[in-house]
Amino acid sequence: MGRRHTRGGTVTVVGNGPVGQTTALLLARWGIPVTLLDGRAERDPIGSKAICQQRDVLEVWDAIGVGRQLADEGVTWGCARTFHRDHELFAQTFVDRGISSFPPFVNISQARTEELLDEQIARSSLIDVRWGHEVTSVDQDESGVTITCRTDSGARVIASDYAVVAVGSRGSALRQQLGVTFDGRSFDDKFLICDIAADIPGWADERRFYFDPEWNPGRQVLIHPCPDSTFRIDWQVPGDYDLAAEERSGALDARIRKIIGDTDYRIVWKSVYRFHSRVADRMRVDRVLLAGDAAHIVSPFGARGLNSGVADAENAAWKLAFVLRGWADESLLETYHTERHAAAVENIAVTTATMDFLVPQSEDQHRHRREVLTAAVTDSQARAQVDSGRLAEPFWYIESSLTTYDPGRPFSGRPDRGCTPAAAPGILVPDTPVTLRGGGGTRLREIARRGILLLVGDDVSVDDIRAAALDAVHTPIRLVRLSEIDSIGVLTAALGAKPGEVWVIRPDAYIAAVTDTVDGLVSALRRLNGSGSPATPVSSASAVRDPDPVFGAAVRAEVSVDRVGGPR
Ligand SMILES: Cc1cc2nc3c(=O)[nH]c(=O)nc-3n(C[C@H](O)[C@H](O)[C@H](O)COP(=O)(O)OP(=O)(O)OC[C@H]3O[C@@H](n4cnc5c(N)ncnc54)[C@H](O)[C@@H]3O)c2cc1C
Repeated sequence: MGRRHTRGGTVTVVGNGPVGQTTALLLARWGIPVTLLDGRAERDPIGSKAICQQRDVLEVWDAIGVGRQLADEGVTWGCARTFHRDHELFAQTFVDRGISSFPPFVNISQARTEELLDEQIARSSLIDVRWGHEVTSVDQDESGVTITCRTDSGARVIASDYAVVAVGSRGSALRQQLGVTFDGRSFDDKFLICDIAADIPGWADERRFYFDPEWNPGRQVLIHPCPDSTFRIDWQVPGDYDLAAEERSGALDARIRKIIGDTDYRIVWKSVYRFHSRVADRMRVDRVLLAGDAAHIVSPFGARGLNSGVADAENAAWKLAFVLRGWADESLLETYHTERHAAAVENIAVTTATMDFLVPQSEDQHRHRREVLTAAVTDSQARAQVDSGRLAEPFWYIESSLTTYDPGRPFSGRPDRGCTPAAAPGILVPDTPVTLRGGGGTRLREIARRGILLLVGDDVSVDDIRAAALDAVHTPIRLVRLSEIDSIGVLTAALGAKPGEVWVIRPDAYIAAVTDTVDGLVSALRRLNGSGSPATPVSSASAVRDPDPVFGAAVRAEVSVDRVGGPR
């Protein structure tokens, strides 16, 4: 079923929000033509919304040409300060096991992120954007997906091989049609957001979280710096909070003044919203994948919404590309569900624990919160229990069927806040600068994202590895001597790599396996194509559209490359 590309090797992405945009760009990067549909008439950017983008997500966006600009335009911060009333409880910083080219977090409005993604989409000849296409049904059979849209000029039908549904949290009609549930809970308390433009120099490069400040007793306030001297302030407010009434009475101005004093300010955007915490029971229904808020919604404390949606997009894109280009069996798509659903469930667990602390639902939870916050002023053990949101971090695919467990590198569990686990199968490979032959420099994750990457130790026979790898799978593979690209030894140290090892890195820069035998390499590679055996390569032009002229030429000259054909 997987390799009969009767519909031109194409994907329809439903929903032109940030997750749909990112999915479309990543698919196009792999040479896959995409139709990108949205029910709105055009882009109508509203407010800051998802402002806080995590380092590994910026790197995904870097692969599609927007990460660097987002980081440059956004506000960089590397310190999250948490207060109880007027005591500072702790300041969290973030550990990088490699030497990333991006800061831990960058704040920028979702509207600007979408605008930059739109600019990249406009440059792509492979993405056909259609606004005013409200999808009313998604049908599928063995030959592909048929999508029906409502447009101003009547119903339209669009056919493709696969579809990614990224319609946001309001996608209940499509979820129901697909037979997908969206269970979870909603919270009674509301949150008031105001983006204010004001000159407050002391707040410019840190996130501040206040429990029970005197200006919002019993509840909390979160303050984030944003570009253009704008600050995003979130107040927890009661369920019957009335923004319009506060504006009329002048209470909104008084609320803001309690925090910023006499400083001049201007409200750029304001909104009141409730939190929901829900997850779809299936993220893959045969040829249709659900991504982003369509598949999971969480409270924004921890910035796990859009950040995890981008991780969905990357996971979906490389797997769809591998299947469409005939490099992997269709069963690889099932690992999209298993990996990303597990990530969504973890995000729900983490954010639910946060919400239980922030918005206690029972008398026990209220007492716990009071006791912890009071003790935390003087007691470091109590401080560790203060939960103002565990900030977004990648999900670790330790238990994925694509990961080869290494007993020598066991996963010791979720690390402390702000830390990254040691390099091991299932963990994102640390990013470091690498030096290519001829003196050119680039980054490890940059070359990892172009296919499967094999990092080979000095004691390993490259000829043996090359022959075995080429025989095992038909994917783009790059084989690189670790010592050749790691002239300063920082990567070897970050990995803890031994000279007899081969490190297998996935196209989304996760470590799939570490092995010291040829047999081990072969089974790890076969596991990565989802079926344990090599897929039959597709020879048709539709499966391999443009064999990567730019990257192929550059890399052939500089590192050992055995098979090219990966993304542009
Ligand atoms: C007030 C507010 C504040 C927020 N603050 C934060 C925050 O601080 N941090 C955070 O991480 N997240 C925050 N979020 C959530 C964040 O905005 C979402 O996680 C993010 O937008 C998800 O992106 P998405 O692409 O999955 O969905 P969306 O952005 O919702 O995009 C879905 C797209 O699908 C289109 N669509 C829907 N149905 C159809 C259909 N049937 N046919 C065709 N097109 C369709 C829609 O028009 C839309 O363009 C906030 C959201 C709101 C509303």
